[in-house]
Amino acid sequence: MNAPPIVLYDTTLRDGTQREGLVLSLADKLKIARRLDEAGFPYIEGGWPGSNPKDEEFFAAARSMTFRHTKLAAFGSTRHRSNRADEDPNLRALLAAETPVTTIFGKSWLLHVVDVLGATPEENLAMVGESVAFLRAAGREVIYDAEHFFDGYRADAAYALATLRAAVEAGATSVVLCDTNGGCLTDEIATMTRAVRAELETGVTLGIHVHDDAGLAVANSLAAVQAGARHVQGTINGYGERCGNANLITIWANLALKVGFETVPGGGDLTHLSELSRFVAEVANIAPDAHAPYVGTSAFAHKGGVHGAATARVEQAYQHVDPAIIGGTSRLVVSELGGRANAAWRVRQLGQLASEGLDPAELSRLVKQLESEGLSFEGADASFELLVRRRRADYVPPFRIVDYTVIVERRNGAAPRAEASVKVEVDGEVLHTAADGNGPVNALDLALRKALGAFYPALDEVHLVDYKVRIIDGAAATGARTRVIIETGHETGSWLTAGAEANIISASLAALHDSLEYAIWRLDARPRRRDERSSSHAAHHRTPLAAGEAS
Ligand SMILES: [Zn+2]
Repeated sequence: MNAPPIVLYDTTLRDGTQREGLVLSLADKLKIARRLDEAGFPYIEGGWPGSNPKDEEFFAAARSMTFRHTKLAAFGSTRHRSNRADEDPNLRALLAAETPVTTIFGKSWLLHVVDVLGATPEENLAMVGESVAFLRAAGREVIYDAEHFFDGYRADAAYALATLRAAVEAGATSVVLCDTNGGCLTDEIATMTRAVRAELETGVTLGIHVHDDAGLAVANSLAAVQAGARHVQGTINGYGERCGNANLITIWANLALKVGFETVPGGGDLTHLSELSRFVAEVANIAPDAHAPYVGTSAFAHKGGVHGAATARVEQAYQHVDPAIIGGTSRLVVSELGGRANAAWRVRQLGQLASEGLDPAELSRLVKQLESEGLSFEGADASFELLVRRRRADYVPPFRIVDYTVIVERRNGAAPRAEASVKVEVDGEVLHTAADGNGPVNALDLALRKALGAFYPALDEVHLVDYKVRIIDGAAATGARTRVIIETGHETGSWLTAGAEANIISASLAALHDSLEYAIWRLDARPRRRDERSSSHAAHHRTPLAAGEAS
């Protein structure tokens, strides 16, 4: 059987932005569109031009962009009950977006037709048919989204099918069955999709668009594909309203690796999947989900002692696929739960370091001791890696924090302010910088970066992704130890560092210190030459260490 490939249709920029807390600027939307085009998506739904000015601006700006793989789709609804199609403002806005594809949704469920729209069943069929025909007549490819299809089909199968036929007869080339409320079970989706496939003429592409309200969006999308759908709508990372849309990253990997279907974009090389997922998360300013299937940083991380020991011996013992296929590596979480095998295996991953005489048993003891003091390496691989590197005899730290001061004050009921100053030594030279921040840690971060940035310009491209604080010994209340985990990002990836101290400022500084030291090593950043530093940072208070100001 030579089935046509499964077309992945991305709606991150339209349905995805309906997630609470997710806001994309025009520039963000254009950035994501470009990235999705590079990834090979055949369709990107850019927005709903009739609904807001930002989406209209998006289509205007996108007109001057060249897409290599992507056809842009503008999204909207069928004409209003009382408008003629050619006078309907929503349909006219769709044409004005000048996209090759228009996707319109219409009602399949009589409850919505009668009680929400106040239309008769016949009026709704005319609204669907005339709207599709109007867009077809203007030369657009028309994809028809059958809203609430499964709920409608359950209530009145003949009517739900009639709405699809109205769209197909008017020229829609794809009809998409939507589980708009996201509550269907997988077997229902499979049964109804199969029934619809049998009713529709073979030239029409059947699609699926589901939401995750029952936690089944990925499973339901796959079930629909197995029942005959050849077009799958979803969003990167499953962003979307309420509980989210179907996660296209997971669906893509499953179709390629598990179901064995050809996909567009192709599934032959999935090594860039994590990077795509992280890119969209960063632009959307949402912390990447460490536990996301396939692409999360924990997706192939083994923590339990038994799992660790087995994985060290047979890598696939606790893995459903080879992580290398999606560009990852297996990872043993170094923690007090893990035995010697975890630490040894981690050290082996660090390559040459192991061959330079580091004793895994000693390392494992050290990790356990540090962890008992509250410094957890779990989820802080970069701090662990530094711990190992710093034990090398020839390790030269790229900088030293000589001292720091943080002031937080609030006077006469005014807003509190924070100011930090830091002295950093690099290459025998001490730089003293100060910064204001919205809080003490922010001020400290800014002051430290200001100082280090003068020496290592590469750090300008490194930024804080996430900052988490946890109290380790809750019983000690305000005297408890504080554990800080920092995630730092760069276009090449992200890393986690940790600090644990009785005081939240020092814990944060320890994690920041590791994060930047790791960045310098990872980016192989070299300090700027002394003369370049003095010309570009003359404003800083800078003293050679020899002059004896510091320490
Ligand atoms: Zn939706």
